[in-house]
Amino acid sequence: MNKDISKIYFSAEDIKVKITEMAKELDAVYEGEEVLFVGVLKGSLPFFVDLARCVSFPVMFDFICASSYGSSTHSSGTLKITKDLSTSVEGKNVLVVEDILDSGNTLFNLFAHLSKQNPKSLKLCCLLDKPSRRERDIKADFTGFTIPDEFVVGYGLDYAERYRELPYIGILKSEVYENR
Ligand code: 5GP
Repeated sequence: MNKDISKIYFSAEDIKVKITEMAKELDAVYEGEEVLFVGVLKGSLPFFVDLARCVSFPVMFDFICASSYGSSTHSSGTLKITKDLSTSVEGKNVLVVEDILDSGNTLFNLFAHLSKQNPKSLKLCCLLDKPSRRERDIKADFTGFTIPDEFVVGYGLDYAERYRELPYIGILKSEVYENR
């Protein structure tokens, strides 16, 4: 285990099992359809590729890098896109693939942005959900694990761009924050 991690929340095996279950749910919904997976960079990458390899329907890949900003302490109003999609979503089944649904501000604004472009369908798939942190009326159509209000890293999720490569999801030791 990485020396900065105090506790493993979900092991690589837990994640693999969960993704297999989620892929079955997706197969039931999208049977016979082609789906454009839209990955929200950067945190969704490991989840995105593992999920895409598990489903039985054809998948197209695209990525967007977006965040929300408002006042300095609150991510609320405006969507800031630093890398936009390279394909059109019009007429396509679009599945937004995200690592974690937290306040919901980014995904709420991203959904408003994408739905204006007339996709055939638009759904949200999140590996993790922290419902107690929600500030917007948004719910994932497909959720992996629901967790309490704790900051987690690994499997794509970072702290100051570190720990994304860990194959598991865990909690950082408190001294990691204190030493920064
Ligand atoms: P929000 O839903 O608040 O607009 O933002 C979601 C983004 O906040 C996620 O994509 C992720 O980058 C970041 N985030 C939220 N909770 C956590 C967490 O527990 N750990 C990490 N590493 N990032 C988080």
